[in-house]
Amino acid sequence: MNYDLLLRGGRVIDPAQNINGIHDVAVKDGRIAAVASSITPSSAKESVDVSGKLVLPGLIDTHAHVFEYVTGRFGLEADLCGVRSGVTTLIDQGGPSCMTLPAFRAHVVETKQTRSLTFLSSYLVGGMEGHYYPSLYKPDCVDAAAVAKSGRAPLLSTGMVSADGRGLLGRGICAVPVQPFADAVARLAY
Ligand SMILES: [Zn+2]
Repeated sequence: MNYDLLLRGGRVIDPAQNINGIHDVAVKDGRIAAVASSITPSSAKESVDVSGKLVLPGLIDTHAHVFEYVTGRFGLEADLCGVRSGVTTLIDQGGPSCMTLPAFRAHVVETKQTRSLTFLSSYLVGGMEGHYYPSLYKPDCVDAAAVAKSGRAPLLSTGMVSADGRGLLGRGICAVPVQPFADAVARLAY
């Protein structure tokens, strides 16, 4: 037995290797071990007929909202958007804040199968249903130092869309000056 798993007859699309066609894919120790037009079924412990299905490298969703039960109707279940939808890595767009980042880590990052990253919201309450509660999303609802410190990295958020500080933009996103964040990040001793 050379392989642990053989996916037979699926349409393999892998632009990085210029592959787009019907192929067999063999897996060993959790990694792709072979891609070929035909691989002997007896070479694998388990063989699955995936004809009529797409076989893709793990997709990356760069705009997800998966802080379930915290960010209202924006918060979907991470694995539903993730591995059960062909997405192996997703990036939550500003759901957690400096106050709720530990919960995102505990209930999403560490418990879901999908690799989950996040942008940190600059607002103390995080990226909830902002356009329903605009009073939570004003410039004075931001604590730049706390955000920079909790992130421990200069992760920028959807709140930092403008340096003019003129207030609410479309979709309830508040424009706040960028410079306080840059100053707060610069003050941190990493
Ligand atoms: Zn979004």
